[in-house]
Amino acid sequence: MTSPNNPPEETFDPASPEEWESFRILSHRMVDDMLTHLENLREQPAWREMPASVRTALSEPIPRTGVGADAAYLDFVQNVLPYPDGNLHPRFFGWVKGNGTALGMMADMLASGLNPHMAGFNQAPALVEQQLIDWLAELLGMPGGSGVLVTGGTMASTLAIGVARFAKARELGIDVREDGVQQWSDRPQRGPFVFYGSSETHGWARKATEFMGLGNRAFRRVPVDSDYRIKMTALAEMVATDRAAGLIPFCVVGTAGTVNTGASDDLTAIAEFCRRENLWFHVDGAFGALAYLSDKLRAQVAGLDQADSLGFDLHKWGDLPFECACVLVRDPEVHRATYAAPASYLAAATRGVIAGGLPFADRGIDLTRGFKALKAWLSFKAEGVDKLVRMIEQNVAQTQHLVDRVEADPDLELLAPAPLNIACIRYAPAGITNEQLDAVNTEILLRLQESGVAVPSSTIIDGKFAIRIANVNHRARLSDIDVVIDGILRIGRELREIG
Ligand SMILES: *Cc1c(COP(=O)(O)O)cnc(C)c1O
Repeated sequence: MTSPNNPPEETFDPASPEEWESFRILSHRMVDDMLTHLENLREQPAWREMPASVRTALSEPIPRTGVGADAAYLDFVQNVLPYPDGNLHPRFFGWVKGNGTALGMMADMLASGLNPHMAGFNQAPALVEQQLIDWLAELLGMPGGSGVLVTGGTMASTLAIGVARFAKARELGIDVREDGVQQWSDRPQRGPFVFYGSSETHGWARKATEFMGLGNRAFRRVPVDSDYRIKMTALAEMVATDRAAGLIPFCVVGTAGTVNTGASDDLTAIAEFCRRENLWFHVDGAFGALAYLSDKLRAQVAGLDQADSLGFDLHKWGDLPFECACVLVRDPEVHRATYAAPASYLAAATRGVIAGGLPFADRGIDLTRGFKALKAWLSFKAEGVDKLVRMIEQNVAQTQHLVDRVEADPDLELLAPAPLNIACIRYAPAGITNEQLDAVNTEILLRLQESGVAVPSSTIIDGKFAIRIANVNHRARLSDIDVVIDGILRIGRELREIG
């Protein structure tokens, strides 16, 4: 009712059939624009610098009054759409970032439109997530395992370390849920909890150990061999030394596909070691876990199927849009026991809307969760998992082609073995010092990026600056690999002529 004292009631929905119609037109345009963007990626530069005017446009004052969806969308088209970091492009090989897919994009729209609250409850969206988790657990050697979709590999592995600590402390009669990791005067002294991983473990482990209150020193970094795999003898010595000093080792992290070089630890050996030493075995398979799906690649990550827990992304080698990752825990009881939190406003019911409780909220930290599962579920169904496997194998074959070209060219050097989809290389003609090579290769990398030809990133291998080409790119072709190599050689020779 409208009266002078009661302003008209409002909603964010379009307010009339006419408004719905004009919003429908705008929505169709949004879909068309994005599909056109995806269809024409190859004609676009891999990256372009943002003009100063765009930076200015993106530092506006608070919009107290709206300009309407059409005008706001125009702002997106002009100032946002052209200036991402390039990860959709066929020649983006930086860090480890997935491309996403057109179907995944549309699924995210459907998920947002349906907008289910994914803490749990036994509704169709929950069954979709549970079905997806069951598929993933079966595919990755953990049938019957418990899992939950999370934002990324960092969160997946952090949650798993939480489960590991809870489980191993419980075996010792320590209740980390009640007592935390603090020393209470009415509790017996217990040595600090420590866990292990190779020095090539991704930076999530440091965040996890700090966040959990264990402290950075509780993550024990084990040296690697010349193939960048954890040294098992060093691991055994470190665990024995720590035990002798009264510390409590609780977990070993094995990596399936390290971020630097794509190396995988000897997961079978770690599994065996963990069984013998009664340690939790976690695998960080952020991208590399999916190599397990391939008959050709499985041997590299053999033993992954013996993990107590596994963290991996679907937004890297799974090709789905951000964010989508998964943590799996073999023992559903211990997973739930680590995180389940009873709440009176969620009294268990066997009927009605809340029947089924909150299984997903009970498997991690998040309560409110989005419907990330839909894009994975829809893509698996539409494309089939076998196609995903072929895409992974395609990336590995492309990387092998890159390695072949590097090894055949006297001006190029492979700085580390490239067993999977990551190659660390440099331009290294004879007669140039390491120091000069670092400067030259830094410049090559920046020129490749700034020219929009391609986006590799960098790392340091054995103290040497490496151009790092990580390929989780379902749009890349062999010819794109050639463009990158040719570009490195061309810029390198130009620099040499000038220098
Ligand atoms: C990317 C990556 C992570 C972190 O995953 P996010 O999804 O970025 O949080 C962890 N480990 C490895 C080996 C990675 O490549």
